[in-house]
Amino acid sequence: MSVEQVESTPSQSRGSPRSVSVLGVRIDRVTQEEALTFIEEQIRRRRASGNRLPCSQVVTVNPEFVMEARRNPAFRQAINEAALNVPDGIGVVWATRYLGQPAPERITGTDLIPALAERCAAHGYRLYLLGAAPGVAEATAARLCARFPGLQIAGTYAGSPDPADEEAILQRLVAAQADLLCVAYGAPAQELWIWRNLSRLPVAVAMGVGGAFDFLSGRKKRAPRAWQRLGLEWLYRLYHEPWRWRRMLALPHFALVVIFKGRGRHSEA
Ligand code: UDP
Repeated sequence: MSVEQVESTPSQSRGSPRSVSVLGVRIDRVTQEEALTFIEEQIRRRRASGNRLPCSQVVTVNPEFVMEARRNPAFRQAINEAALNVPDGIGVVWATRYLGQPAPERITGTDLIPALAERCAAHGYRLYLLGAAPGVAEATAARLCARFPGLQIAGTYAGSPDPADEEAILQRLVAAQADLLCVAYGAPAQELWIWRNLSRLPVAVAMGVGGAFDFLSGRKKRAPRAWQRLGLEWLYRLYHEPWRWRRMLALPHFALVVIFKGRGRHSEA
């Protein structure tokens, strides 16, 4: 995406030359700064429209997402129809390089949230934190408010991705008058939740953020910066949460599939 495209409407930004298909999943080759500008622009435009513009979905794609999308057509469709898909996970960044269309950098939900909170505080945009275990979204909000004075938290709620809870959550969101919604239900539940409710979500942007609230609230320790820079955050997480080993088998599997099929017809989005 060019800067003009970053600042364009979501539908115009999809499938631009600055996107690459990784095993059928669209990845937008943007910097974190461009992703932040895009999200801020959606908020500004929706406000300027009197809150009439529809919600834009943002997905932070890691290798587990791509492998799940290969066997889950609804999840694949949700990601490919999203307004912006950023490469979370060093494996996805590596795949874009291997495919000759490199993404500039890794962009995680855990990094985007504070950067967005800072912009929300500066412009008076309202942030809603949905999901995670009871109390975690509240603790995240408290830490963000301490770090970014003036930040308006439109609401926090654990809820659940169960369709039976949907109406109650939507009612809360309507009352909250938020601009930006972060949803922490883990993938693929959070992306499917946002996707099926997209036309009814009363916010400018909704983004699935996985375990980000667990880190930002201090409930879980994130890998040190040095590990992150070396692309080893996954290893740190595996060390601290060994039960993840089965899920993380998706990583070597993902690398092998990219090598053997990534450049073939299977890479078509
Ligand atoms: N979660 C939730 N409700 C659910 C399932 C998950 O609130 O029904 C939350 C969970 O508490 C955690 C997040 O969703 O905060 C998912 O975290 P995980 O570490 O699995 O996500 P990842 O970062 O691996 O995508």
